[in-house]
Amino acid sequence: MSARVLVVDDVLPNVKLLAAKLTREYFDVVTANSGPEALERIKAHQPDIVLLDVMMPGMDGFEVCERIRADPAIMHIPVIMVTALSDVSDRVRGLEAGADDFLTKPVNDVALFARVRSLVRLKMMMDEWRLRESTSGQLGMLVSTDSVQNQTAEAARVLVVEDSAIDLDKIDETLARDRDELTDTDSCAAGLELALNEEFDLIIVSLTLMREDGLRLCSQLRSQERSRQIPILLLADETDMDRVAKGLELGANDYLIKPIDRNELLARARTQIRRKRYQDRLRANYEQSLSMALTDSLTGLFNRRYLSAHLPRLLDRSGGNAKPVSALMFDIDHFKVVNDSWGHGVGDEVLKEVAGRASRNLRNFDLVARLGGEEFVVIMPDTDMTQATLVAERLRKRIAETSFDVAAPVQRIDVTISIGVAVTDGRLDEEGKPESGEQLLRRADMALYQAKRSGRNRVVVDDGTIQTSN
Ligand code: GH3
Ligand code: MG
Ligand code: MG
Repeated sequence: MSARVLVVDDVLPNVKLLAAKLTREYFDVVTANSGPEALERIKAHQPDIVLLDVMMPGMDGFEVCERIRADPAIMHIPVIMVTALSDVSDRVRGLEAGADDFLTKPVNDVALFARVRSLVRLKMMMDEWRLRESTSGQLGMLVSTDSVQNQTAEAARVLVVEDSAIDLDKIDETLARDRDELTDTDSCAAGLELALNEEFDLIIVSLTLMREDGLRLCSQLRSQERSRQIPILLLADETDMDRVAKGLELGANDYLIKPIDRNELLARARTQIRRKRYQDRLRANYEQSLSMALTDSLTGLFNRRYLSAHLPRLLDRSGGNAKPVSALMFDIDHFKVVNDSWGHGVGDEVLKEVAGRASRNLRNFDLVARLGGEEFVVIMPDTDMTQATLVAERLRKRIAETSFDVAAPVQRIDVTISIGVAVTDGRLDEEGKPESGEQLLRRADMALYQAKRSGRNRVVVDDGTIQTSN
Protein backbone atom coordinates (compact mmCIF):
# COMPACT_ATOMS: atom_id res chain seq x y z
CA MET A 1 0.00 0.00 0.00
CA SER A 2 1.60 3.24 -1.10
CA ALA A 3 0.57 6.65 0.12
CA ARG A 4 1.76 10.25 0.15
CA VAL A 5 3.07 11.42 3.52
CA LEU A 6 3.77 15.02 4.49
CA VAL A 7 6.53 15.33 7.13
CA VAL A 8 6.52 18.64 9.04
CA ASP A 9 9.36 19.65 11.39
CA ASP A 10 11.33 22.87 11.91
CA VAL A 11 14.54 20.88 12.56
CA LEU A 12 15.97 19.75 9.23
CA PRO A 13 17.74 16.55 10.44
CA ASN A 14 14.44 15.36 11.95
CA VAL A 15 12.70 15.86 8.61
CA LYS A 16 15.46 14.01 6.80
CA LEU A 17 15.43 11.07 9.19
CA LEU A 18 11.67 10.50 8.96
CA ALA A 19 11.63 11.10 5.20
CA ALA A 20 14.39 8.52 4.72
CA LYS A 21 12.58 5.89 6.81
CA LEU A 22 9.34 6.40 4.94
CA THR A 23 10.96 6.48 1.48
CA ARG A 24 12.65 3.18 2.24
CA GLU A 25 9.17 1.71 2.78
CA TYR A 26 8.05 3.12 -0.61
CA PHE A 27 5.97 5.98 0.71
CA ASP A 28 5.86 9.12 -1.41
CA VAL A 29 7.25 11.85 0.87
CA VAL A 30 6.66 15.62 0.83
CA THR A 31 8.25 17.89 3.48
CA ALA A 32 7.64 21.24 5.18
CA ASN A 33 9.65 23.22 7.77
CA SER A 34 6.98 25.39 9.38
CA GLY A 35 3.27 25.53 10.15
CA PRO A 36 2.30 27.90 7.33
CA GLU A 37 4.39 25.92 4.84
CA ALA A 38 2.67 22.72 6.00
CA LEU A 39 -0.79 24.16 5.33
CA GLU A 40 0.33 25.29 1.89
CA ARG A 41 1.79 21.87 1.05
CA ILE A 42 -1.33 20.09 2.24
CA LYS A 43 -3.45 22.09 -0.18
CA ALA A 44 -1.00 21.67 -3.06
CA HIS A 45 -0.22 17.96 -2.60
CA GLN A 46 -3.29 16.49 -0.84
CA PRO A 47 -1.24 14.03 1.24
CA ASP A 48 -2.86 10.87 2.64
CA ILE A 49 -1.38 11.54 6.06
CA VAL A 50 0.52 14.29 7.92
CA LEU A 51 3.34 13.67 10.45
CA LEU A 52 3.35 16.88 12.41
CA ASP A 53 5.96 18.23 14.83
CA VAL A 54 4.48 19.99 17.85
CA MET A 55 7.18 22.45 18.89
CA MET A 56 7.78 24.89 16.05
CA PRO A 57 8.45 28.63 16.22
CA GLY A 58 5.53 30.78 15.12
CA MET A 59 2.61 28.48 14.42
CA ASP A 60 2.95 25.31 16.53
CA GLY A 61 1.64 21.85 15.72
CA PHE A 62 -1.56 22.24 17.77
CA GLU A 63 -2.52 25.31 15.79
CA VAL A 64 -1.70 23.65 12.44
CA CYS A 65 -3.87 20.71 13.45
CA GLU A 66 -6.76 22.93 14.48
CA ARG A 67 -6.54 24.75 11.15
CA ILE A 68 -6.58 21.48 9.22
CA ARG A 69 -9.67 20.36 11.13
CA ALA A 70 -11.43 23.65 10.46
CA ASP A 71 -11.01 23.57 6.68
CA PRO A 72 -13.61 21.37 4.92
CA ALA A 73 -11.30 20.80 1.96
CA ILE A 74 -8.61 19.09 4.05
CA MET A 75 -10.25 18.23 7.38
CA HIS A 76 -10.43 14.51 6.53
CA ILE A 77 -6.64 14.07 6.27
CA PRO A 78 -5.26 12.05 9.20
CA VAL A 79 -2.68 13.78 11.40
CA ILE A 80 -0.07 12.13 13.62
CA MET A 81 1.64 14.46 16.09
CA VAL A 82 5.35 13.77 16.51
CA THR A 83 7.12 15.28 19.49
CA ALA A 84 9.85 14.99 22.04
CA LEU A 85 7.39 15.86 24.78
CA SER A 86 6.47 12.88 26.85
CA ASP A 87 4.01 14.75 28.97
CA VAL A 88 0.65 13.05 28.73
CA SER A 89 -1.26 16.32 28.95
CA ASP A 90 0.34 17.34 25.63
CA ARG A 91 -0.78 14.10 24.02
CA VAL A 92 -4.29 14.77 25.16
CA ARG A 93 -4.09 18.33 23.92
CA GLY A 94 -2.99 17.03 20.51
CA LEU A 95 -5.86 14.58 20.31
CA GLU A 96 -8.30 17.27 21.36
CA ALA A 97 -6.89 19.53 18.62
CA GLY A 98 -8.00 16.80 16.22
CA ALA A 99 -4.85 14.71 15.83
CA ASP A 100 -5.47 11.04 15.14
CA ASP A 101 -2.43 9.77 16.97
CA PHE A 102 0.71 10.66 18.76
CA LEU A 103 4.31 9.44 18.36
CA THR A 104 7.22 10.35 20.62
CA LYS A 105 10.75 11.06 19.40
CA PRO A 106 12.91 9.13 18.81
CA VAL A 107 10.26 7.47 16.69
CA ASN A 108 9.91 3.70 17.09
CA ASP A 109 9.76 2.15 13.59
CA VAL A 110 7.18 -0.49 14.41
CA ALA A 111 4.82 2.09 15.86
CA LEU A 112 5.47 4.53 13.01
CA PHE A 113 4.67 2.16 10.14
CA ALA A 114 1.81 0.48 11.92
CA ARG A 115 0.16 3.82 12.69
CA VAL A 116 0.74 5.23 9.23
CA ARG A 117 -0.61 2.14 7.49
CA SER A 118 -3.64 1.85 9.73
CA LEU A 119 -4.57 5.51 9.26
CA VAL A 120 -4.00 5.42 5.51
CA ARG A 121 -6.23 2.34 5.24
CA LEU A 122 -8.92 4.12 7.21
CA LYS A 123 -8.63 7.23 5.08
CA MET A 124 -9.04 5.24 1.88
CA MET A 125 -12.27 3.78 3.15
CA MET A 126 -13.55 7.19 4.21
CA ASP A 127 -12.55 8.62 0.81
CA GLU A 128 -14.65 5.95 -0.85
CA TRP A 129 -17.69 6.91 1.21
CA ARG A 130 -17.18 10.60 0.56
CA LEU A 131 -16.91 9.93 -3.17
CA ARG A 132 -20.17 8.01 -3.16
CA GLU A 133 -21.76 10.79 -1.21
CA SER A 134 -20.58 13.38 -3.71
CA THR A 135 -21.94 11.27 -6.58
CA SER A 136 -25.29 11.31 -4.83
CA GLY A 137 -24.86 15.06 -4.48
CA GLN A 138 -24.43 15.39 -8.22
CA LEU A 139 -27.65 13.47 -8.71
CA GLY A 140 -29.33 16.21 -6.70
CA MET A 141 -29.45 14.27 -3.47
CA LEU A 142 -28.70 15.44 -0.01
CA VAL A 143 -25.06 15.85 1.00
CA SER A 144 -24.08 16.25 4.61
CA THR A 145 -21.99 19.19 5.73
CA ASP A 146 -20.94 17.11 8.69
CA SER A 147 -17.43 16.38 9.86
CA VAL A 148 -15.80 13.96 12.26
CA GLN A 149 -15.27 16.72 14.82
CA ASN A 150 -18.97 17.64 14.80
CA GLN A 151 -20.03 14.24 16.06
CA THR A 152 -20.89 13.88 19.70
CA ALA A 153 -18.65 11.44 21.56
CA GLU A 154 -21.00 11.00 24.50
CA ALA A 155 -23.32 8.18 25.56
CA ALA A 156 -21.53 5.60 23.44
CA ARG A 157 -21.98 1.85 23.79
CA VAL A 158 -18.59 0.35 24.61
CA LEU A 159 -17.64 -3.32 24.84
CA VAL A 160 -14.59 -4.05 27.02
CA VAL A 161 -12.77 -7.40 26.85
CA GLU A 162 -10.43 -7.34 29.86
CA ASP A 163 -9.73 -9.72 32.76
CA SER A 164 -7.98 -7.30 35.09
CA ALA A 165 -10.49 -6.00 37.63
CA ILE A 166 -8.34 -2.97 38.39
CA ASP A 167 -8.13 -1.89 34.75
CA LEU A 168 -11.82 -2.57 34.25
CA ASP A 169 -12.69 -0.28 37.16
CA LYS A 170 -10.46 2.41 35.79
CA ILE A 171 -12.03 2.20 32.33
CA ASP A 172 -15.51 2.15 33.81
CA GLU A 173 -14.89 5.24 35.96
CA THR A 174 -13.23 7.13 33.12
CA LEU A 175 -15.82 6.48 30.44
CA ALA A 176 -18.58 7.29 32.91
CA ARG A 177 -17.49 10.93 32.54
CA ASP A 178 -18.88 10.75 28.99
CA ARG A 179 -21.95 8.79 30.17
CA ASP A 180 -20.80 5.84 28.06
CA GLU A 181 -22.62 2.57 28.56
CA LEU A 182 -20.19 -0.27 29.28
CA THR A 183 -20.55 -4.00 28.71
CA ASP A 184 -17.61 -6.07 29.91
CA THR A 185 -16.40 -9.64 29.67
CA ASP A 186 -13.14 -11.47 30.37
CA SER A 187 -13.61 -13.98 27.55
CA CYS A 188 -12.94 -13.56 23.83
CA ALA A 189 -15.73 -15.95 22.84
CA ALA A 190 -18.26 -13.98 24.87
CA GLY A 191 -16.85 -10.73 23.43
CA LEU A 192 -17.32 -11.96 19.87
CA GLU A 193 -20.83 -13.17 20.65
CA LEU A 194 -21.76 -9.76 22.12
CA ALA A 195 -20.21 -7.85 19.21
CA LEU A 196 -22.19 -9.91 16.71
CA ASN A 197 -25.51 -9.58 18.49
CA GLU A 198 -25.55 -6.12 19.97
CA GLU A 199 -24.70 -2.61 18.79
CA PHE A 200 -21.40 -1.08 19.90
CA ASP A 201 -19.61 2.16 19.03
CA LEU A 202 -16.26 0.94 20.31
CA ILE A 203 -14.61 -2.31 21.40
CA ILE A 204 -11.69 -2.19 23.82
CA VAL A 205 -9.59 -5.36 23.64
CA SER A 206 -6.91 -6.19 26.17
CA LEU A 207 -3.76 -7.86 24.86
CA THR A 208 -2.79 -8.83 28.42
CA LEU A 209 -5.50 -11.45 29.02
CA MET A 210 -4.18 -14.29 31.19
CA ARG A 211 -5.78 -17.17 29.37
CA GLU A 212 -6.41 -15.93 25.82
CA ASP A 213 -4.95 -13.94 22.96
CA GLY A 214 -6.83 -10.73 22.25
CA LEU A 215 -5.28 -10.62 18.77
CA ARG A 216 -7.36 -13.62 17.74
CA LEU A 217 -10.49 -11.73 18.77
CA CYS A 218 -9.36 -8.73 16.65
CA SER A 219 -8.99 -10.94 13.64
CA GLN A 220 -12.40 -12.57 14.22
CA LEU A 221 -14.06 -9.18 14.64
CA ARG A 222 -12.56 -7.99 11.36
CA SER A 223 -13.56 -11.08 9.44
CA GLN A 224 -17.26 -10.79 10.31
CA GLU A 225 -19.39 -8.39 8.28
CA ARG A 226 -21.40 -7.41 11.33
CA SER A 227 -18.43 -6.22 13.42
CA ARG A 228 -16.04 -5.16 10.66
CA GLN A 229 -16.67 -1.45 11.02
CA ILE A 230 -16.63 -1.17 14.81
CA PRO A 231 -13.47 0.60 16.00
CA ILE A 232 -11.10 -1.46 18.14
CA LEU A 233 -8.85 0.09 20.79
CA LEU A 234 -6.09 -2.19 22.10
CA LEU A 235 -4.73 -2.19 25.66
CA ALA A 236 -1.16 -3.47 25.93
CA ASP A 237 2.03 -3.47 27.96
CA GLU A 238 4.92 -1.35 26.80
CA THR A 239 7.01 -4.47 26.24
CA ASP A 240 4.46 -5.80 23.79
CA MET A 241 4.83 -3.34 20.90
CA ASP A 242 5.24 -6.15 18.36
CA ARG A 243 1.81 -7.51 19.17
CA VAL A 244 0.36 -4.00 19.06
CA ALA A 245 1.80 -3.62 15.55
CA LYS A 246 0.30 -6.98 14.62
CA GLY A 247 -3.07 -5.89 16.03
CA LEU A 248 -3.04 -2.68 14.00
CA GLU A 249 -2.19 -4.72 10.91
CA LEU A 250 -5.18 -6.94 11.65
CA GLY A 251 -7.38 -3.87 11.63
CA ALA A 252 -7.40 -2.51 15.18
CA ASN A 253 -7.66 1.28 15.06
CA ASP A 254 -5.64 2.50 18.01
CA TYR A 255 -3.85 1.37 21.15
CA LEU A 256 -3.15 2.46 24.69
CA ILE A 257 -0.17 1.47 26.81
CA LYS A 258 -0.72 0.35 30.40
CA PRO A 259 -0.80 1.72 33.04
CA ILE A 260 -3.89 3.40 31.61
CA ASP A 261 -3.82 7.17 31.73
CA ARG A 262 -7.41 8.33 32.21
CA ASN A 263 -7.21 11.43 30.04
CA GLU A 264 -5.53 9.59 27.23
CA LEU A 265 -8.10 6.80 27.36
CA LEU A 266 -10.92 9.32 27.23
CA ALA A 267 -9.37 11.23 24.32
CA ARG A 268 -8.62 8.09 22.28
CA ALA A 269 -12.05 6.61 22.93
CA ARG A 270 -13.69 9.88 21.88
CA THR A 271 -11.71 10.02 18.63
CA GLN A 272 -12.78 6.51 17.66
CA ILE A 273 -16.40 7.04 18.65
CA ARG A 274 -16.64 10.29 16.68
CA ARG A 275 -15.11 8.63 13.64
CA LYS A 276 -17.49 5.67 13.86
CA ARG A 277 -20.48 7.97 14.13
CA TYR A 278 -19.30 10.04 11.17
CA GLN A 279 -18.85 6.93 9.09
CA ASP A 280 -22.31 5.65 10.08
CA ARG A 281 -23.73 9.00 9.07
CA LEU A 282 -22.05 8.87 5.66
CA ARG A 283 -23.37 5.39 5.05
CA ALA A 284 -26.91 6.27 6.13
CA ASN A 285 -26.88 9.35 3.88
CA TYR A 286 -25.66 7.28 1.00
CA GLU A 287 -28.35 4.68 1.46
CA GLN A 288 -31.01 7.33 1.77
CA SER A 289 -29.73 9.10 -1.37
CA LEU A 290 -29.76 5.83 -3.20
CA SER A 291 -33.33 5.10 -2.24
CA MET A 292 -34.30 8.65 -3.17
CA ALA A 293 -32.68 8.24 -6.58
CA LEU A 294 -34.64 5.08 -7.26
CA THR A 295 -38.02 5.75 -5.73
CA ASP A 296 -40.80 8.22 -6.30
CA SER A 297 -41.06 10.58 -3.33
CA LEU A 298 -44.84 11.06 -3.54
CA THR A 299 -45.89 7.41 -3.53
CA GLY A 300 -42.77 5.60 -2.35
CA LEU A 301 -43.01 3.31 -5.39
CA PHE A 302 -40.01 2.61 -7.60
CA ASN A 303 -39.42 5.17 -10.34
CA ARG A 304 -38.79 4.90 -14.07
CA ARG A 305 -35.01 4.85 -13.58
CA TYR A 306 -35.25 1.78 -11.37
CA LEU A 307 -37.68 0.05 -13.72
CA SER A 308 -35.38 0.61 -16.73
CA ALA A 309 -32.43 -0.82 -14.84
CA HIS A 310 -34.27 -3.73 -13.29
CA LEU A 311 -36.62 -5.00 -16.02
CA PRO A 312 -33.88 -6.22 -18.44
CA ARG A 313 -32.22 -8.17 -15.61
CA LEU A 314 -35.54 -9.67 -14.61
CA LEU A 315 -36.28 -10.74 -18.20
CA ASP A 316 -32.79 -12.20 -18.57
CA ARG A 317 -33.26 -14.29 -15.49
CA SER A 318 -36.71 -15.51 -16.55
CA GLY A 319 -35.45 -16.17 -20.08
CA GLY A 320 -33.16 -18.83 -18.71
CA ASN A 321 -36.01 -21.04 -17.57
CA ALA A 322 -38.61 -19.68 -20.01
CA LYS A 323 -41.02 -18.49 -17.33
CA PRO A 324 -43.54 -15.87 -18.46
CA VAL A 325 -43.27 -12.29 -17.18
CA SER A 326 -46.35 -10.07 -17.18
CA ALA A 327 -46.54 -6.30 -17.39
CA LEU A 328 -49.57 -4.24 -16.40
CA MET A 329 -49.62 -0.61 -17.37
CA PHE A 330 -52.36 1.46 -15.81
CA ASP A 331 -53.48 5.05 -15.85
CA ILE A 332 -56.09 6.95 -13.82
CA ASP A 333 -59.18 7.86 -15.82
CA HIS A 334 -59.95 11.56 -16.26
CA PHE A 335 -57.42 12.46 -13.62
CA LYS A 336 -57.16 15.96 -15.01
CA VAL A 337 -60.73 16.52 -13.84
CA VAL A 338 -59.75 15.64 -10.25
CA ASN A 339 -56.97 18.21 -10.31
CA ASP A 340 -59.05 20.83 -12.06
CA SER A 341 -62.03 20.42 -9.72
CA TRP A 342 -60.38 19.90 -6.36
CA GLY A 343 -56.79 21.04 -6.72
CA HIS A 344 -53.41 19.41 -6.98
CA GLY A 345 -53.33 18.46 -3.30
CA VAL A 346 -56.38 16.23 -3.68
CA GLY A 347 -54.86 14.89 -6.92
CA ASP A 348 -51.75 13.91 -4.95
CA GLU A 349 -53.87 12.16 -2.32
CA VAL A 350 -55.53 10.13 -5.04
CA LEU A 351 -52.16 9.17 -6.53
CA LYS A 352 -50.96 7.96 -3.13
CA GLU A 353 -54.08 5.92 -2.49
CA VAL A 354 -53.94 4.33 -5.95
CA ALA A 355 -50.30 3.39 -5.28
CA GLY A 356 -51.24 2.00 -1.86
CA ARG A 357 -54.13 -0.10 -3.13
CA ALA A 358 -51.97 -1.44 -5.97
CA SER A 359 -49.12 -2.42 -3.63
CA ARG A 360 -51.45 -4.04 -1.12
CA ASN A 361 -53.06 -6.19 -3.80
CA LEU A 362 -49.88 -7.58 -5.30
CA ARG A 363 -47.29 -10.10 -4.17
CA ASN A 364 -44.30 -8.48 -2.52
CA PHE A 365 -41.93 -9.66 -5.24
CA ASP A 366 -44.02 -7.98 -7.94
CA LEU A 367 -42.44 -4.69 -8.94
CA VAL A 368 -44.66 -1.60 -8.84
CA ALA A 369 -43.36 1.62 -10.35
CA ARG A 370 -44.74 5.07 -11.02
CA LEU A 371 -43.55 6.15 -14.43
CA GLY A 372 -44.51 9.77 -13.80
CA GLY A 373 -47.82 11.64 -13.86
CA GLU A 374 -50.68 9.23 -13.23
CA GLU A 375 -49.18 6.32 -15.10
CA PHE A 376 -48.03 3.15 -13.29
CA VAL A 377 -46.44 -0.16 -14.20
CA VAL A 378 -46.55 -3.53 -12.47
CA ILE A 379 -44.09 -6.26 -13.45
CA MET A 380 -45.00 -9.77 -12.32
CA PRO A 381 -42.36 -12.48 -12.69
CA ASP A 382 -43.46 -16.06 -13.28
CA THR A 383 -47.00 -14.98 -14.16
CA ASP A 384 -48.87 -16.13 -17.27
CA MET A 385 -51.60 -14.35 -19.17
CA THR A 386 -54.48 -15.97 -17.31
CA GLN A 387 -53.09 -15.01 -13.91
CA ALA A 388 -52.10 -11.53 -15.11
CA THR A 389 -55.61 -10.89 -16.39
CA LEU A 390 -57.08 -11.96 -13.06
CA VAL A 391 -54.72 -9.70 -11.14
CA ALA A 392 -55.47 -6.75 -13.44
CA GLU A 393 -59.19 -7.27 -13.10
CA ARG A 394 -58.92 -7.49 -9.30
CA LEU A 395 -56.86 -4.30 -9.22
CA ARG A 396 -59.37 -2.46 -11.40
CA LYS A 397 -62.17 -3.50 -9.02
CA ARG A 398 -60.22 -2.50 -5.88
CA ILE A 399 -59.93 1.03 -7.21
CA ALA A 400 -63.44 1.39 -8.65
CA GLU A 401 -65.40 -0.39 -5.88
CA THR A 402 -64.57 1.80 -2.92
CA SER A 403 -64.51 5.57 -3.21
CA PHE A 404 -61.45 7.46 -2.03
CA ASP A 405 -61.38 9.45 1.20
CA VAL A 406 -59.82 12.82 0.51
CA ALA A 407 -59.45 16.17 2.28
CA ALA A 408 -62.44 18.50 2.64
CA PRO A 409 -64.51 19.86 0.98
CA VAL A 410 -65.15 16.79 -1.18
CA GLN A 411 -64.32 14.04 1.30
CA ARG A 412 -65.11 11.15 -1.04
CA ILE A 413 -64.50 10.78 -4.76
CA ASP A 414 -64.83 7.92 -7.18
CA VAL A 415 -61.77 6.93 -9.11
CA THR A 416 -61.29 4.42 -11.90
CA ILE A 417 -58.29 3.16 -13.80
CA SER A 418 -57.71 1.59 -17.20
CA ILE A 419 -55.21 -1.26 -17.53
CA GLY A 420 -53.22 -2.68 -20.42
CA VAL A 421 -51.68 -6.14 -20.04
CA ALA A 422 -48.84 -7.76 -21.98
CA VAL A 423 -47.05 -11.05 -21.28
CA THR A 424 -43.76 -12.36 -22.67
CA ASP A 425 -44.47 -15.40 -24.77
CA GLY A 426 -40.96 -16.81 -24.91
CA ARG A 427 -40.77 -16.41 -28.69
CA LEU A 428 -37.63 -15.04 -30.30
CA ASP A 429 -37.59 -12.25 -32.86
CA GLU A 430 -36.04 -12.42 -36.38
CA GLU A 431 -32.61 -11.85 -34.87
CA GLY A 432 -33.12 -14.72 -32.45
CA LYS A 433 -33.47 -12.44 -29.43
CA PRO A 434 -36.18 -12.64 -26.78
CA GLU A 435 -38.51 -9.69 -26.35
CA SER A 436 -36.93 -6.67 -24.62
CA GLY A 437 -38.41 -4.84 -21.66
CA GLU A 438 -39.10 -1.84 -23.87
CA GLN A 439 -41.05 -3.94 -26.34
CA LEU A 440 -43.04 -5.55 -23.57
CA LEU A 441 -43.94 -2.17 -22.09
CA ARG A 442 -44.82 -0.80 -25.53
CA ARG A 443 -47.33 -3.62 -26.00
CA ALA A 444 -48.80 -3.01 -22.54
CA ASP A 445 -49.08 0.68 -23.43
CA MET A 446 -50.91 -0.12 -26.67
CA ALA A 447 -53.34 -2.28 -24.75
CA LEU A 448 -53.84 0.56 -22.26
CA TYR A 449 -54.60 2.91 -25.15
CA GLN A 450 -57.25 0.46 -26.36
CA ALA A 451 -58.74 0.32 -22.87
CA LYS A 452 -59.06 4.10 -22.85
CA ARG A 453 -60.56 4.17 -26.34
CA SER A 454 -63.11 1.50 -25.56
CA GLY A 455 -64.60 3.34 -22.60
CA ARG A 456 -62.12 3.36 -19.62
CA ASN A 457 -62.42 1.49 -16.28
CA ARG A 458 -61.46 -1.72 -18.04
CA VAL A 459 -58.68 -4.21 -18.70
CA VAL A 460 -57.36 -4.92 -22.19
CA VAL A 461 -54.94 -7.77 -22.79
CA ASP A 462 -52.53 -7.73 -25.71
CA ASP A 463 -52.43 -11.29 -27.00
CA GLY A 464 -51.26 -10.17 -30.42
CA THR A 465 -54.73 -9.17 -31.59
CA ILE A 466 -55.84 -6.91 -28.72
CA GLN A 467 -58.89 -8.39 -27.07
CA THR A 468 -61.08 -6.84 -24.46
CA SER A 469 -61.93 -8.43 -21.17
CA ASN A 470 -64.68 -7.05 -18.92
P1 GH3 B 1 -57.29 9.88 -19.35
O1 GH3 B 1 -58.48 9.20 -18.77
O2 GH3 B 1 -57.28 9.88 -20.82
O3 GH3 B 1 -56.02 9.31 -18.78
O4 GH3 B 1 -57.39 11.40 -18.91
P2 GH3 B 1 -56.53 12.13 -17.85
O5 GH3 B 1 -57.18 13.40 -17.49
O6 GH3 B 1 -56.26 11.23 -16.69
O7 GH3 B 1 -55.16 12.31 -18.59
P3 GH3 B 1 -54.28 13.54 -18.95
O8 GH3 B 1 -52.99 12.94 -19.42
O9 GH3 B 1 -54.99 14.48 -19.86
O10 GH3 B 1 -54.04 14.30 -17.60
C1 GH3 B 1 -53.17 13.81 -16.65
C2 GH3 B 1 -53.12 14.82 -15.53
O11 GH3 B 1 -52.32 14.33 -14.47
C3 GH3 B 1 -52.50 16.12 -15.96
C4 GH3 B 1 -51.58 16.50 -14.81
O12 GH3 B 1 -51.87 17.76 -14.29
C5 GH3 B 1 -51.86 15.46 -13.75
N1 GH3 B 1 -50.66 15.10 -13.01
C6 GH3 B 1 -49.52 14.59 -13.46
N2 GH3 B 1 -48.66 14.38 -12.43
C7 GH3 B 1 -49.29 14.78 -11.30
C8 GH3 B 1 -48.94 14.82 -9.93
O13 GH3 B 1 -47.83 14.43 -9.50
N3 GH3 B 1 -49.83 15.29 -9.03
C9 GH3 B 1 -51.06 15.70 -9.45
N4 GH3 B 1 -51.92 16.13 -8.52
N5 GH3 B 1 -51.42 15.68 -10.73
C10 GH3 B 1 -50.57 15.25 -11.66
MG1 MG C 1 -55.17 9.48 -16.97
MG1 MG D 1 -52.38 10.38 -18.87
